[in-house]
Parts: sequence; structure tokens; C-alpha cells
Amino acid sequence: MTKIKVFDARQEEMLAFEEWAEANGVTLSFEEGVLNQASVHLAQGFDGISTKQIAKPEPEVYAILKEYGIRQIAQRTAGFDMFDGPLATENGIIITNTPEYSPASIAEFTVGNCLNVLRRLKNVEEKIEQQDFAHFPDIRGTTIRGKTVAVVGVGSIGSHTARLFHAFGAKVLGYDVTPRDDYRSFVDYQDCLEDALKNADIVTVHTPLDATTHHMFDYETFKQMKPGAVFLNNARGGVMNAKDLFKVLDEDHLFGAAIDVYEFEEPYVFSKHTHEVIEDKDFLRLIQDPKIIYTPHTAYYTDEAIHNMVTIAMDAALEVIQTGDAKHRTN
Ligand code: NAD
Repeated sequence: MTKIKVFDARQEEMLAFEEWAEANGVTLSFEEGVLNQASVHLAQGFDGISTKQIAKPEPEVYAILKEYGIRQIAQRTAGFDMFDGPLATENGIIITNTPEYSPASIAEFTVGNCLNVLRRLKNVEEKIEQQDFAHFPDIRGTTIRGKTVAVVGVGSIGSHTARLFHAFGAKVLGYDVTPRDDYRSFVDYQDCLEDALKNADIVTVHTPLDATTHHMFDYETFKQMKPGAVFLNNARGGVMNAKDLFKVLDEDHLFGAAIDVYEFEEPYVFSKHTHEVIEDKDFLRLIQDPKIIYTPHTAYYTDEAIHNMVTIAMDAALEVIQTGDAKHRTN
């Protein structure tokens, strides 16, 4: 019987794992910890592995997996920037991800948090806390209807987000290195990022994190945005320079932001840090800034997403084990 070692296994995934294992006749073995140099020995004797981590495995891990005869790593998220693709390829290891496990989860969250910024939810909550129910302009909001939204990266999640903003009555501009004709009915593609930014009241980024998008949103890019615009990042922390975001907010160039991902979130996000001092001053600012609605990488987090991530990742693991290739390979 095929045996797969599952790293970073969460309690909430167990029902989906059990159903999948039974349906496919595969034995699964679970570890709470992530895949790294200290834990890789646990994969020995297994046919394949899956993980769900944001931490990068050390470079040595790939060669050790090869030595164990393991030919794949099935990551149970869409993002796969934690892996070294070329090094994995060098060692004959296929990295698979779970694209499109629930684009609706991230798209709905993006639009919801956009509304929270536009309707000044942080101010409203603060007033309620003080039992101040008076109506003053500091809690008066604006609508999405009638606004122009720029979607940067019109892929699986970006296109879903674009459809939702379009349905709200916004004009949707798009910027993507590969525009798609089937999205043109609801996205007006712009030739360059600057054209999309300068005309938009709301900018939402949905590109992957790679060399072309790292710090794509820096001081210069933020300044290209319309004064008073809203910035939404539900993609990856590294696509923006957080210090530059703070700078443009301090200059009152932007109205506000909703940020779900932070470049250096790894020591904090997905674990509890109550009563601890947060050493990273930029992270602290992200959490506390009254103009920012910060959420700890929450956009994907729904019942539907958890179920689909497990099923898609495990199907991909089995596909590589059985055929030597996979439709969701990333390298
Ligand atoms: P996707 O590959 O379907 O779409 C990405 C799009 O970005 C593609 O259309 C691509 O052509 C475009 N693109 C790539 N480089 C570009 C560039 N330099 N300039 C402009 N466009 C560019 O990916 P997806 O599944 O829609 O995921 C989008 C992002 O969302 C990823 O960064 C992913 O890691 C992130 N994500 C976040 C969460 C969360 O919980 N916050 C959950 C899932 C995915």
C-alpha cells in the first residue's frame, strides 16, 4: 500500500485526510512539525510527502529526500515560494501546489475588507468600545459602486475578485503580464502598471511573489496611486515594501489599506503570541496603525478551502508517485 508522510498536519484537516485516504487506499502518517533538516528523516521509508508550511526548508533537505527515493513535495497551499524550485529539479523532486482551491475565499475576503476600510470599521469599533454612537464624518464611509478598481495580477484569485468588484458596480481595470480575452467582459486591461494605478480609487494585488513582483509596491509605485486611494494586499507580503506603505500613509497620500500578508510574518503568523513583546517594529505598526486593517494571513481560511487543499494536494502527491508527473507541478 502507498504510504505518504504528512508534515505540518493540522487537526482541522483530519476529516478531509481520512476521507481521501479511504477513497484512494493510501496510508497516511502525520507529523505536527514542518519539513526541515531536523525533521526530514521522518520521511524515510515513505513513498511521498505533503506539507503546508511557510518556512523554507534548508537547501540540504532536497538531496536527503532524493536519497530516500522521494520524488515529490505536495504543498497544501497555492503559494510555493518557500521552496527552491531549481534545487528541487536538480534533485529530481517535483513540487506541486494547490492552485484554485477556493479563489472565492480570498476574493470575498478582499472585497469584504475593502468595504471595512471604506466604511472606516476600525474607527466605528473604537467608538462603540467607548459607547459613542454619534454620527460624525470620522465614521462616514464611501461605496464601492461608482469607484474604479485596479486588479494587479488577474489570475485565478484576481479574476474572481474582479468579477465581484464588477458586480458591485465598480469599473475594473486590470494589469497582468498575460491578459486573457475571456476576462475582457469585466476587466479593462491597461498596458502598464502605472496606467492602472493612476486612475484607480482601489488597488488590489493578486500576483505571485517572484523576482518580477518582489517589492512591486514600493514608495515610487505607491506614489503613482491616486491620492486618497485604498491599497489591498491579499497576495504575498513580499510584493510590497511595508516601510514604504507606512511612509505614504504618514504623508496622507493613501486613505488606508487592508493587509493580510507581511513579508516577515513567519515568526508570528499561524501561532499564538499573547503577552509576548513583538520585536518586529514594522509588524507592530501594521497591527496597530489606525489606517490599516491587518489580518494574519486569513483570506484563504474557510471550511471549503481546507477541504479542497487537502484533496488537491494529496491527488497531486499520488499522481507523481504513480506517473512521475503532475498537472499541478510548479518546477
Ligand atoms: P495565479 O497564478 O492564478 O494568478 C497570478 C496572476 O498574476 C497571473 O495572471 C499572472 O500572469 C500574473 N502575474 C505574474 N507576474 C506578474 C507581474 N510581474 N505583473 C503583473 N501580473 C503578473 O495565482 P493565484 O492563485 O490567483 O494567487 C495569487 C496570489 O494570491 C499569490 O501570491 C498567492 O500566493 C496568493 N494567495 C494568498 C492567500 C491568502 O490567504 N492571503 C491565499 C491563496 C493565495
